[in-house]
Amino acid sequence: MNAITRSVKSIFLAELVIGMALTLKMFFKPKVTVNYPYEKGPLSPRFRGEHALRRYPNGEERCIACKLCEAICPAQAITIEAEPRDDGSRRTTRYDIDMTKCIYCGYCEEACPVDAIVEGPNFEFATETREELMYDKAKLLANGDRWETEIGERLRLDAPYR
Ligand code: SF4
Ligand code: SF4
Repeated sequence: MNAITRSVKSIFLAELVIGMALTLKMFFKPKVTVNYPYEKGPLSPRFRGEHALRRYPNGEERCIACKLCEAICPAQAITIEAEPRDDGSRRTTRYDIDMTKCIYCGYCEEACPVDAIVEGPNFEFATETREELMYDKAKLLANGDRWETEIGERLRLDAPYR
């Protein structure tokens, strides 16, 4: 009986017909995939992407070189050096993150008392060399300038839960 059934299925290409019917059925359903990179799915406000150093609206750096982020980083990925300015304020002279060490835990952001170091929404920062993932202060500040609108919105949405 099994042999007969198999033969009939083979002769009438039953598997092929069933497969094509399924394809036709799915063809008219809403797509569950997105056309990346032209389309992207929504990101959670808590998404932890590429790091950025933020500024105040007047352009001044937020970071006050307290080094809490450096101390809490479990991967020891952050290196900070600091000096007082002429006006007595304390600012970093060096702020490096070795992104090859970072585990994207978000502790640096949580430790920062002035919301200076944050993990932004950018996840498209793959590189061809390790050296490009050694971020310095200029790169981090540039990230902050580029993503400030999105970062500010993300912090605003997440604020009630912090
Ligand atoms: S996200 Fe975590 S591992 Fe990465 S720099 Fe911040 S504290 Fe360090
Ligand atoms: S980024 Fe924040 S936690 Fe880190 S040194 Fe600057 S002010 Fe302190």
